[in-house]
Amino acid sequence: MSTILPLIIIGGGPAGYTAAIYAARAGLCPVLYQGPNPGGQLTITGEVENYPGYRNGITGPAMMEDFQAQAERFGTVVKTGTITQVDFSTYPRRLILDSGESLLAQSVIIAAGASAKWLGLPAEKRLYGRGVSACAICDGFFFKGKTVVVVGGGDTAAEESLYLANLCKKVHLLVRKGQMRASKIMQERVFKNTNIQTWFHTEVRDIIGQEHVEAVEAIDAIAQTTTMIEATGLFVAIGHQPNTLPFLPYITVDRQGYIQTKPGTTQTNIPGIFAAGDIQDPHYRQAVTAAGTGCMAALEAERFLQQPPINF
Ligand code: NDP
Repeated sequence: MSTILPLIIIGGGPAGYTAAIYAARAGLCPVLYQGPNPGGQLTITGEVENYPGYRNGITGPAMMEDFQAQAERFGTVVKTGTITQVDFSTYPRRLILDSGESLLAQSVIIAAGASAKWLGLPAEKRLYGRGVSACAICDGFFFKGKTVVVVGGGDTAAEESLYLANLCKKVHLLVRKGQMRASKIMQERVFKNTNIQTWFHTEVRDIIGQEHVEAVEAIDAIAQTTTMIEATGLFVAIGHQPNTLPFLPYITVDRQGYIQTKPGTTQTNIPGIFAAGDIQDPHYRQAVTAAGTGCMAALEAERFLQQPPINF
């Protein structure tokens, strides 16, 4: 018979660890499971310069070590394991790990994050962090005065291009179709910006460079001609995928697949199950906003656990 834990937190990014800090300090004895990427997306970024409190900036991995140490200081039990399946139809809730182990919990905070979508080119993996990035706000500063390429046609690509156009010498935006999917206002801003050159019907064929990105080989899908664009950065902005798969049978998600929460809260459609961080946030996707919703989730879980047990 498994022990019934008061609170399981799924995810070891800023949302999960902030929830853990608050929950542990409130005496909820949280157990946090970090999955295949301990520390979350921040561990695959370079320097974090926009998280308040670090006046000289900090590397993503070092920051996540601080988050973890702070959570453990108050008694959070941190474990490694991926939740692959859940049963939220009964109470207490049941969670199954990739090892096959079954866990029972009175409440759950889902903070499993989102993963950037990638083009799938071999050079993309090799040059990740060496010019290839999926976050202009995180890494754009390192390309100040340089030429960069952005791939994508949605609002993220438009937003990242506009952000980079303020910093970089030149931004090449590669859109695979004949039009952008981004909102009209964002498209207008992109087209008005003389620092952004938009290439339609254009895809990335390869990324050139051994140690760092040196150029992007682009192909015009209609003319079937290739162009070598000299650039030191390639920002892939083709969307994010929230990591919701194990929860989908029970948890309501929005049109884009992000967990839907009751406005102004982290409460999902299932009592006692909360969602925090990028898994429920298609808009901001920042460490500081993830941490904020992690705090909210812990406070809401605490309130939930003070109520008498529910009859199911
Ligand atoms: P979207 O799914 O909206 O757009 C993805 C874009 O990437 C599409 O143009 C798509 O092309 C393109 N794409 C996908 N795969 C590839 C590929 N392999 N090669 C080249 N291009 C590819 O994702 P976003 O992240 O842009 O936006 C997600 C949601 O978040 C949207 O609803 C958006 O409105 C919202 N958002 C809102 C913002 C705001 O309001 N400020 C800011 C950022 C996002 P195609 O069109 O051909 O399918």
